[in-house]
Amino acid sequence: MTTIYYDKDADLRLLKGKTVAIIGYGNQGRAHALNLRDSGIDVVVGGVPDATLDQAQQDGFETMSVAEAAAQGDVICLLIPDEVQQLVYREEILPHLRPGKAVDFAHGYNVHYGLITPPPNTDVIMIAPRMIGVGVRDAYVAGKGVPAFVAVHQDGSGQAWPKTLALARALGCTRNGAIESTFAEETELDHFSEHFVWPAVFRVLVGSYEFLTARGYQPEAVLMELWGSKEAAEVLAQMADVGIFRQMDFHSPTSQYGTLTHMDSALPPETRLCMEAALEEIKDGSFAREWELEQAAGYPVFTKLKQAAFAHPLNEMEEEVRKLAGE
Ligand code: NDP
Repeated sequence: MTTIYYDKDADLRLLKGKTVAIIGYGNQGRAHALNLRDSGIDVVVGGVPDATLDQAQQDGFETMSVAEAAAQGDVICLLIPDEVQQLVYREEILPHLRPGKAVDFAHGYNVHYGLITPPPNTDVIMIAPRMIGVGVRDAYVAGKGVPAFVAVHQDGSGQAWPKTLALARALGCTRNGAIESTFAEETELDHFSEHFVWPAVFRVLVGSYEFLTARGYQPEAVLMELWGSKEAAEVLAQMADVGIFRQMDFHSPTSQYGTLTHMDSALPPETRLCMEAALEEIKDGSFAREWELEQAAGYPVFTKLKQAAFAHPLNEMEEEVRKLAGE
């Protein structure tokens, strides 16, 4: 059964007198730091001298190097890009880990695939908001919660769960309920969306654009119909608000009938095999190994694929449609 934690399950006093070190002041780092401070937690920010660290200083935080922040932090929130976490952890954080300290992640990738393995006497915890950083901050300020997965990978102090819940509460993540998960589940679900759901959506939209324009429909009209008008974005928002099928009430009976009668035939039954393949390469670690090799080689495949995507003629058409939409 799914366990969901609320504010009542979390005791903020556990973090009183402790220092939380926020490493990286980007999307999640800034939201984490501001929310924690507003919840009465002592926060320091560690990073490299750059515009984001300047921003942290302007926001009134004590800023320092990653190593200094790791030395000061009882809880160390690793909020730098996943690709650089291994190196920064090894060189600047590991030397400062003492028994009972906690390392907190917002995504399970590096721990799940064994790329970061903190010593057994430390806590390894995760609060993974299902929301971009700006949303994490805006919701907190509005007195609302953001959904999050919380997990404990390693309980070195015997207090890892209460610590995780206190941190989640200070972030605003237990206001509407935080789902107990694992580093494996969070990483695998996140990657499944990235390896099957979103590629399928991209393929359906780009494929429909190519098909319809080849059949003589006006490119501007096709783009506006498929995603340019933001109707599709509104449908997704309504799916989250009222339900995937219940939002059909906002569409005409003709639309509802058309959708329901074509739901099963729109994609071939073999699509299930694509799901199986996507999940398999996530679970057996072969995608993680491929991505590590790609990074080590300087991103040759990634660069080529991005160049091809941005060379697609629909990019120019999107500019036209944005002008039509008055943006
Ligand atoms: P960002 O890219 O927004 O921010 C990273 C921060 O780390 C920036 O301040 C960046 O500075 C700094 N940084 C980059 N490289 C280094 C380095 N080598 N040493 C020290 N600091 C460095 O990251 P996100 O907030 O997007 O991601 C952080 C974590 O949160 C990741 O684990 C991610 O998976 C997770 N997450 C992110 C979500 C999101 O919405 N973005 C959602 C949920 C989880 P600079 O800008 O100068 O490079």
